[in-house]
Amino acid sequence: MILRIDNLVKHYGPVQAVDGLSLEIGQGEVLGLVGESGSGKSTVGKCVLRLTEPTAGSIELAGKDITHLSRRAMRPLRRDVHMVFQDPFSSLNPRFTIERIVAEPLLRHKVTDRREVANRVAAMLEKVGLRQEMRKRFPHELSGGQRQRVGLARALILEPKLVVADEPVSALDVSVQASVLNLITDLQRDMGFSCLFITHDLSVVEFLADRIAVMYLGRIVESGPTAEIFAQPRHPYTQALLSAAPVADPARQRERRRIVLGGDVPSPMDPPSGCRFHTRCPLAFDECRTSEPLLNDPRGSGHPAACHLVTADRVPDAAK
Ligand code: SF4
Ligand code: MG
Repeated sequence: MILRIDNLVKHYGPVQAVDGLSLEIGQGEVLGLVGESGSGKSTVGKCVLRLTEPTAGSIELAGKDITHLSRRAMRPLRRDVHMVFQDPFSSLNPRFTIERIVAEPLLRHKVTDRREVANRVAAMLEKVGLRQEMRKRFPHELSGGQRQRVGLARALILEPKLVVADEPVSALDVSVQASVLNLITDLQRDMGFSCLFITHDLSVVEFLADRIAVMYLGRIVESGPTAEIFAQPRHPYTQALLSAAPVADPARQRERRRIVLGGDVPSPMDPPSGCRFHTRCPLAFDECRTSEPLLNDPRGSGHPAACHLVTADRVPDAAK
């Protein structure tokens, strides 16, 4: 197991950003963590990178408990986990050349031989599909897609075990999103890193993620193998997200009725009682307002959902 998160809680004052979340990512596995803005998914990524201190729970990286490691003790582990950010422009130092930016993790980890650094930067640029003459350019001279390729090169140059990618394509033009996603898929297969891929858009992870975990107001409401989540989503919230996602196959689009959710995402300062989704769920009934459904996996199939209506012989259908 590369990453094991157990019962993670992160509160910012009264804001319950993450409220009891557990997940695991195996060697070479890609987990898509999906949720609307405000669901707490970015906070999970920040806790994994120890950019913020968890309130409770535990995080293990490659078998080591990193939950309360000091900055100093965390430093050698920063080789193993890297982040790719949403906005490649603001995460790249505008005064540095591309070469310097991509080399930075090597220098930080005391790889100082100039020839080795130059060779590794050149090899990495090639891997992410950037021409060598880009080395002397500055971030503002690059397109959004090229800048995200630089962000990937920087994240991968130390060959980390785990990459946390937080909405890595959502700031890009739709026309370049697919090429960057394909690149991430190729790099992942080639280099074998594990990946926590955070996105608000389920369709982005359909071909990339091995498994998907869906978050709502600080908790996971459903998780399972990607193909199963798409073929038979169990939680009404996942069903609603999927009904809104575009599909390439028109036959499948016709099968799907759009489920329109009422209201906005409630504030994480005051999450609803019982099932947190009850204020927007088309299937909510009395019990949902008072009793909280736990993640349960009645068939033991590795596809749990947190809804009172999911039982061994029944999956709810929010489109009915
Ligand atoms: Fe909807 Fe109730 Fe299931 Fe929550 S427990 S998802 S409110 S049916
Ligand atoms: Mg976010």
